[in-house]
Amino acid sequence: MINIVIIGGGLSGTLVAWNILRHPGSGKEIDLKIIDGRPENDLGTAYSTVDDFLLLNVSAEKMGADPKNPRHFINWAQGKGITVQDGDFLPRNLFRKYIQELLKDALQSKKNNITYERIFDEVTDLRIQNSHAEVLTNNHGALIADKVVLALGNFPPKDLSLKNNSYVNSKKYYSDPWKQDLFLSLTGNESVLILGTGQTTIDLLVTLHKKNHKGKITAISRHGHFPLVHKKINECAPFYNEIRNIKNIQEIFRFIRQQSAEAEKTGSDVRAVIDSMRPYTTELWLGLPFEEKRKFMRHLFRYWEIIRARMAPINDEIIQQLIKSGQLKIVAGRITEIIDNNDSIDIYYQEKGSRNLQIMNADMAVNCTGPQTDYNRIKHPLLQNLLAQGLIECDPLHLGLNAKPDGALISKDKSASNILYTIGSPLRGILWESVAVPDIKIHAENLAVKLLKSD
Ligand SMILES: Cc1cc2nc3c(=O)[nH]c(=O)nc-3n(C[C@H](O)[C@H](O)[C@H](O)COP(=O)(O)OP(=O)(O)OC[C@H]3O[C@@H](n4cnc5c(N)ncnc54)[C@H](O)[C@@H]3O)c2cc1C
Repeated sequence: MINIVIIGGGLSGTLVAWNILRHPGSGKEIDLKIIDGRPENDLGTAYSTVDDFLLLNVSAEKMGADPKNPRHFINWAQGKGITVQDGDFLPRNLFRKYIQELLKDALQSKKNNITYERIFDEVTDLRIQNSHAEVLTNNHGALIADKVVLALGNFPPKDLSLKNNSYVNSKKYYSDPWKQDLFLSLTGNESVLILGTGQTTIDLLVTLHKKNHKGKITAISRHGHFPLVHKKINECAPFYNEIRNIKNIQEIFRFIRQQSAEAEKTGSDVRAVIDSMRPYTTELWLGLPFEEKRKFMRHLFRYWEIIRARMAPINDEIIQQLIKSGQLKIVAGRITEIIDNNDSIDIYYQEKGSRNLQIMNADMAVNCTGPQTDYNRIKHPLLQNLLAQGLIECDPLHLGLNAKPDGALISKDKSASNILYTIGSPLRGILWESVAVPDIKIHAENLAVKLLKSD
């Protein structure tokens, strides 16, 4: 008998469960539980939206949950009568329905040796007792588990640390862009300042546009660039063998720039070069010395994010339309101060390339700077308790948790657990590519197999 508890029933936790159900192994008894503080018809922050206009940022033909059958999602959607072709971007809430249907089907046809339960609760703490864990919940007491998967997902952005941080208490400042109450108070005429120009900002701009918001919008980030747009381009030949032994990040990027220049000669561009690296980005990352990873984070991360994480063309059209109409302004600059002066919220900033201090103001400001990754600072009872016990620690880059590449969590005394595992965002610092669906689905299958094989 093996008791498996998955904490978090978002995409990662659900895919681990689905893979356990479809690869149940040799017939030993399996007791599988998912615990989540969100209702059962939810699938984490990304896919629980009711808005059909919030799209996946990966095209439909790559979104199949089975790594061996990437077309499974597009085929499923077509089977439901949805008109979709390769290169299209479907709604995120449709993807939720797909994943939930996969789980439901797997439960209906599950083997008799498996029991499954989804528990609506929050896990607040965990104790290791000899060879098992006691998972402590708010309302269901302690659950005994041989294996525990922390599938906790993304955490709201951290507030900018400025010389005066009183702005975080302002009613005009929205620190969590994923909280639905953000839109409840809007009349449609407010001026909005958005901190960041990444994926969350795109979501917010599309939502404001679709909700017919008329107020002026300004988005500010250090570079002022949105992620590149998905585009059909000539593929670039893989070049892993030429860079696999390079352990210097600047040299790797010099090579990428050369490849991009070559690609441009054939009408392609840097997108194809980065895409061709995708199958071995993690291997490359794992082989880099810590100092080189740090240099990457300091100097190249933002550049990488712009070209690696793309947006659907239809979202780009909306953004261009907002810019053209004068409703949206993009600013490249560094924020130095945010002040609620009662009438408005004021942002002081230095425009890129200038030392002059400038000011802009609006009725509200929204923090879209991306998920908080320093787990020492995240206010999450379970994480705080695990960190305090030394059962987990941050990875050296503070991008998530320290773990083996297979997800086995590493404790403060540097030993890898054979009870506690993680998947998804907490593995960012270890694997680099661990956050998007194409990676999570592979990691979920591997982890499911590993949990069932290990003693
Ligand atoms: C807004 C948004 C849009 C995205 N869009 C895409 C996209 O289009 N394509 C793509 O590839 N990736 C996208 N991503 C990336 C995203 O990381 C993954 O696709 C995926 O959603 C991650 O799933 P997860 O299960 O790891 O995390 P989540 O979906 O966040 O799920 C984590 C779950 O853990 C639960 N939980 C946490 N702590 C506890 C606790 N103590 N007790 C009980 N339950 C707990 C939470 O309630 C939550 O349901 C997006 C991310 C966001 C935030």
